[in-house]
Amino acid sequence: MPAANRDLMRAMNRCTVLRTIRLSETISRRDIANQTGLSQATVTAITAELIKDGLIFEKEQQGATTGRPPVLLALNPDGAFVAGVYVSSDRISVVVINLEARVMASHELPLDSNVTDPVQVADRVAESVRSCCISHGFLPDDISGLGLGIPGLVNANTGMVHFHPGFNQGFNWSNVPFRELVEKRTGFETFIENSSNALAIYEHWFGEARGCEDFLVVTLEHGVGLGIFADGRLVRGAKGMAGELGHIRGSSKGTECRCGLNGCLEAVASTYSILRDASKLVKQGIWETDKQPEEITLEDVIDAAKVGEPSLEEIIRRAGKVIGYRISDLTRLLDPEKVVITGKSYLARDMLFEPLVRAMKERRCAVFGGMPELIIQPWQAENYARGAGAMVLQQLHQNCDLHMPG
Ligand SMILES: [Zn+2]
Repeated sequence: MPAANRDLMRAMNRCTVLRTIRLSETISRRDIANQTGLSQATVTAITAELIKDGLIFEKEQQGATTGRPPVLLALNPDGAFVAGVYVSSDRISVVVINLEARVMASHELPLDSNVTDPVQVADRVAESVRSCCISHGFLPDDISGLGLGIPGLVNANTGMVHFHPGFNQGFNWSNVPFRELVEKRTGFETFIENSSNALAIYEHWFGEARGCEDFLVVTLEHGVGLGIFADGRLVRGAKGMAGELGHIRGSSKGTECRCGLNGCLEAVASTYSILRDASKLVKQGIWETDKQPEEITLEDVIDAAKVGEPSLEEIIRRAGKVIGYRISDLTRLLDPEKVVITGKSYLARDMLFEPLVRAMKERRCAVFGGMPELIIQPWQAENYARGAGAMVLQQLHQNCDLHMPG
């Protein structure tokens, strides 16, 4: 066998063994051989290498009373670390996670509204990653790779960002080689993905959708995002832009969307549209607040709605209802087992989700087998960064490239 083929075969076998160990809590060498079809000798050689690399360790079986207890192998969660970064319009969130996607370090850098140039943003990302690592005692050599989660249109294959909903007003992010910009500045092997897709990868590997082949992750943020898993695979589409739920038709009234189309879902039912409509109420003198219309935040709107500003509550409820109808449409299109809904809009709780769920129930139909399991997940700012890190873990595992750095 030529040397190149031998190396490839070895890498594939290493990947197979590592995956088998990852999917079992603990497993013996004999069971790995049985499950993978590899010889005992090959399994012994590969597991010795993985132990030497610190990726797995031996665990003696507890409770065996007779004979020599079989030695079991388990994944070492701290065998490698990766960084995950989420770049929103107003902040950069960074986490360092271990092989189980547990957050070991986190850091946040607020972004000034005048920082919209891709080079400036990439500089800030590199600075944030450095700060996150240094302040928690991680050296650059400790990090095996970096994942970027970006809201908007991202081509994971080319590393290009084609639209960023938060930055496009200040700088045209139409063809930005953002993965390359960050990779050059950090020196880490870098992967990029739409942030909703990255979150879906996290849910599939570590979260609510573990073991689930068909599910959706809907993210309710400034825009409306979607990660689709079908038949166990993330659906990216021909140009990597599948799942743009925010830009399907949400209304026939033709409200202009930030993408340039009219009547998109996020133009009528998103944090962006809620803030736009709430600002109008301030200008019309219907909602009295100390803030200027352009300074209003989602938290301001929710707080005022809670203390009895009915026009604001109505804006949030209307958004929930429209989103519920569109998710219902998606369930008939894609037949998911589960739908996970999360995002900063979670802060609105029942005001948003009660009409959302009611709209889905209204469109429920026994012919299609009822509704999928609906999981409304509490929101944390670092979730997207962790999703971006989980995407790197997936890449490292799938490319058989998981190694101890340095
Ligand atoms: Zn649009």
